[in-house]
Amino acid sequence: MTEIIEGVVLKSSDYQEHSKILQVFSKEHGLLGIYLRGASNYKSPNFALAQPISHAFFTIRYTEGLSSSFKGEMINAFQNLKLDFTKNIYVYHLFELLMRNLQQHESHPDLYELLIKTLYILENNKEMRLLKLLTIYFEMQLLYHLGVGPVVSECVVCGERTNIANFDIPHGGFVCLNHLDKSQKRYSISTLELLYKLQNNTFEEIVALSTDVKNEVLKDLREIMTNFYLYHLNMTTNAVKYFEKS
Ligand SMILES: [Zn+2]
Repeated sequence: MTEIIEGVVLKSSDYQEHSKILQVFSKEHGLLGIYLRGASNYKSPNFALAQPISHAFFTIRYTEGLSSSFKGEMINAFQNLKLDFTKNIYVYHLFELLMRNLQQHESHPDLYELLIKTLYILENNKEMRLLKLLTIYFEMQLLYHLGVGPVVSECVVCGERTNIANFDIPHGGFVCLNHLDKSQKRYSISTLELLYKLQNNTFEEIVALSTDVKNEVLKDLREIMTNFYLYHLNMTTNAVKYFEKS
């Protein structure tokens, strides 16, 4: 039986002479491998569908292994995103995190919706600050989905809600003055406040406040996110080296 699914192409590899195997993050089934016929032929309508970042409907025959598809319909090609080298680095960074951390066939509707909203904003916006902040926001939401999200409402050791003194990466969250580890780098109040907002504010609120975020705070958050993934999930992506330089 065939079904129509909605998804974003995260990765595309050549398969046999004319086809491709896509790694798709779908609304219905989460991560999904799809064998798409005719996708290597640039005259085929499937050619554009098979490009990473394409957001499309796919008519598939769903199986536990590799699903197959022969047609689809583009929802948004995200042409600006595809052609922008810098945006590509950030978007592929998020795609890699999804592919390496989520299980196949496990749906994450909230995360899917967040990815779509993020891609739409990045497609239509040139502001670097927003690009950086939304990437961090997405990374943080992914951590909560994976059950390893940072504790940013109280001291992770004692539950104290006042006298928050730092964000401690090995401990996985805020620490109060009593549990401050002096060997750890000390982050500013502005950085701690924004971490709290990244957990508690809506996506739309984060977009709205992005213009007021200072560069030092963004830099701190980038460092925190990179080191948090490294420490708690033992992973990094190729983009991280670029982030350090930019
Ligand atoms: Zn404490």
